[in-house]
Amino acid sequence: MKLLLVEDEVRLAKALAELLRREGYEVDHCADGLSGRDAVESGTYDAIILDVMLPGIDGFAIAREARRAKIKTPILMLTAKGELDDKVTGLDSGADDYLIKPFQSAELLARLRALLRRNLPTDDGSLSFGDIALKQGTARLTCVKTGQEVRLGEKEYRLLEYLIANQGQILTREQIAVRIWGYDSDAEYNNVEVYVSFTRKKLHFVGAETEIKAVRGVGYELRYRHV
Ligand code: CA
Repeated sequence: MKLLLVEDEVRLAKALAELLRREGYEVDHCADGLSGRDAVESGTYDAIILDVMLPGIDGFAIAREARRAKIKTPILMLTAKGELDDKVTGLDSGADDYLIKPFQSAELLARLRALLRRNLPTDDGSLSFGDIALKQGTARLTCVKTGQEVRLGEKEYRLLEYLIANQGQILTREQIAVRIWGYDSDAEYNNVEVYVSFTRKKLHFVGAETEIKAVRGVGYELRYRHV
């Protein structure tokens, strides 16, 4: 699970990032509103922890812009104590939940888990779409119709996980590259094509009618060829 933390208070940001990494999350951090907005709008995170008062653009504006841009990533907003209207403004602006500073680590983690669960349609830790299911932890792809299974490589797994979590949406090559290889990597967009091709072969292998559809000039989308 990949998280974005947008927080300008250096010590708090550092402590939060450490806490989240210890819990097994991958964390990217932005320390101002502008870089935060760009990262949020990349649409490549499972959840976003967004501070309200930021240099550049505030958290409310970032959340509003993200929702206008059809970014559906769950947002947990951090607001300072005493800013009474923040709760209302935060939820109005498109945040999914809010937390008042100072807060307990356990509370932050609990709220975060609740937000992340919304992306997981089943109770047993598997993601599903069309006729396929993806078991978390084991990285197994199953076709529920044929009963066939195959093991996925790490990047294939992350690609399918990302496509399933964003079902009904077209993901660009850039979004996929950032999601799988990160901002700092040298990955070229044609790496995305290579992994899409590997993953398609595995979908074919298990006899799935779910396919990774290329949308010309845009990117990829998961479709189910229901006959
Ligand atoms: Ca702040």
